[in-house]
Amino acid sequence: LTSAYAPPTATRTTCGYCGVGCALDVVADGGRVTAVLPARDGPVNDGHACVKGRFAHGFLTSPERLTRPLVRRGGRLEPAGWDEALERVARGLRAAVAAGGPDAVAAVSSARATNEENYLVQKFMRVVVGTNNVDNCSRLCHSPSAAGLTASFGLPGGTDSFDGVERADCLFVVGANPVEAHPVVGARLLRRALEGAALVVADPRAVGLAVHADLHLRPRPGTNVALFHGIAHVLLTEGLADTAFLRARATGLPELTELLAGYPPERVQDITGVPAGDVVAAARLYGRAERPAIVYGLGVTEHRHGTDGVRTLANLAILRGAVGTDRGYGVNPLRGQNNVQGASDMGALPDVLPGYAKVSDPSARAVAEAVWGAPVPPRPGLRLPGMFAAARAGTLKALWVIGEDVRATDPDANRVARALDACPFVVCSELFPSETARHADVVLPAAAWLEKEGTFVNFDRRFQRVRRAVPPPGEARSDFDIVRSLARVMGADLGCATPADALAECARLAAPLFGGLSHARIDREGAVPWPCPDPGAPGEAKLYGRGFATPDGRAHLAAAPYLPPGEAPDDGYPLVLVTGRRWAHYNSGSMTRRGDGLALGPADFLDVHPEDADRYGLRDGAPVVVESRHGRARLVARIGEETAPGQVFCAFHFPASGVNRLTSHHADTVTSCPEYKVTAVRVSAP
Ligand code: SF4
Repeated sequence: LTSAYAPPTATRTTCGYCGVGCALDVVADGGRVTAVLPARDGPVNDGHACVKGRFAHGFLTSPERLTRPLVRRGGRLEPAGWDEALERVARGLRAAVAAGGPDAVAAVSSARATNEENYLVQKFMRVVVGTNNVDNCSRLCHSPSAAGLTASFGLPGGTDSFDGVERADCLFVVGANPVEAHPVVGARLLRRALEGAALVVADPRAVGLAVHADLHLRPRPGTNVALFHGIAHVLLTEGLADTAFLRARATGLPELTELLAGYPPERVQDITGVPAGDVVAAARLYGRAERPAIVYGLGVTEHRHGTDGVRTLANLAILRGAVGTDRGYGVNPLRGQNNVQGASDMGALPDVLPGYAKVSDPSARAVAEAVWGAPVPPRPGLRLPGMFAAARAGTLKALWVIGEDVRATDPDANRVARALDACPFVVCSELFPSETARHADVVLPAAAWLEKEGTFVNFDRRFQRVRRAVPPPGEARSDFDIVRSLARVMGADLGCATPADALAECARLAAPLFGGLSHARIDREGAVPWPCPDPGAPGEAKLYGRGFATPDGRAHLAAAPYLPPGEAPDDGYPLVLVTGRRWAHYNSGSMTRRGDGLALGPADFLDVHPEDADRYGLRDGAPVVVESRHGRARLVARIGEETAPGQVFCAFHFPASGVNRLTSHHADTVTSCPEYKVTAVRVSAP
């Protein structure tokens, strides 16, 4: 079925699961969603949607939905009215400020919330509380993309529209499993490969696309930078680099050339395990293509060297002149969550304001102060891991967690639990009683994406509308309403009576990047990419045709040496654990486990290679205990050759299995993005 069959009462909205941003027509009856149809004229999905977007809406009416605020009384969370709950939150935040100043308060905003909600959260923290302690879960996934792409090209987003990528004649897909995690994009990539584009997949696992690849490179987890250097080495030594482009539009070639002398394919084979001949073959496929494109995922970013990974991958596009030209489709991150790009675009980050202006820059603060009519604190705030460290150290006195189950999804979960226990005041805005909510003093029932208005930004920088198809249950409210109400209780007026007002204010503040954006325009055009400097100008789907956005206008090659992962296997922990997603579920599974999703994916499985299964006495479908240096989890073994010997893989959709008790505190040296992709573990049959 497509939207052609949708009755006229269907509500057009944007999928709230992955970052592809499929347009959906939602049919409702009596306040309940009865069908979700992929929009045939959807700007990104073109009539398609995956199992999550189409069918995973049963969670909306789950009996477990939070429908009233909860406040802790005598050690128990008990139902309360909104007035009492908001008064308790206001009192808790004021007490924290009295005890430790504004920087004793922090907020974790949400990549699942709308842009307008993220905008208001960061404004509340900066203007009402007076701190830059606001972050969002892009810290845990694509913060290295923002840092790396900015350093290489000037802006913190993918360089090209996916429509362009679909015209590429060579697809280099790295550290991503789009067939499961971004199924509509996975299908479009596969279609392009079947049409004849060369497909090179680099991933330690035999992911879905690898079956159709011309070349599948299987680097050891944590060795991306060496692999990219090996490919770059071949591009240079075989004369496949675009010397005219490098001379005219790039910088850093001498330093990179010197570094790459130390990464011949044979040495790269030693580090990565990828045969030297395959490194050469990949370089030739990418280097000889007329319009190559790079698409990558969390297998590049969630490493101790995540930012270096993005930058050294970007090196390949620069060396080929395949970015900012019509000779290729650049470097494009597959954002995991529906609005992980937008949450950062809106300034829900500790060091930047909406539109990525630095809080430490007095002129940027002056612009925000003029719009907000209030001072903005100049010192960058705490990143998400820093918030937990400050809570454990006793300096963070209040934490507000919005739409994220940090207790279940952040790495080294036992340490996160200690931080939440140590924090004197914890507030959660949530759909369900999550693991994090168990630690909270106040829990605020929130509306889901099908129950509210606003916009999301998808993985290729397109603003699209989110529209309310059904009302939220009981007394649940949108985060937009919650933030405005809390500000009022604290004696402040955030303005922005509606989400449209909030985006309009953001457009004024963050011009020229978002200067031409408004709800009315997005309603009219369906999707508008940023940069979009004014209402009369189209957004820029393909970036950098007129120059890079770096201070010198040139693309910057990165001469970053390979660094090993934070931890390595040894006799005690002989296997490497990689975590990721499965097709039927989304992140902590709070939405997809409720409804039919459970039938499609009933547990978190540990994928084990048959050789390792024999060695450690594991049976297919039987329980397996997994231990790391940080914790212990109990999963179900699934034996097969998708995972290489010496490696195991599991998803993180069932918090009860405790996967993130295993993962480590090691993190990207630039952005603090956790190294989810490399944890040394041992396995045993219970
Ligand atoms: Fe939603 Fe992503 Fe599936 Fe599209 S591909 S329907 S955006 S989960």
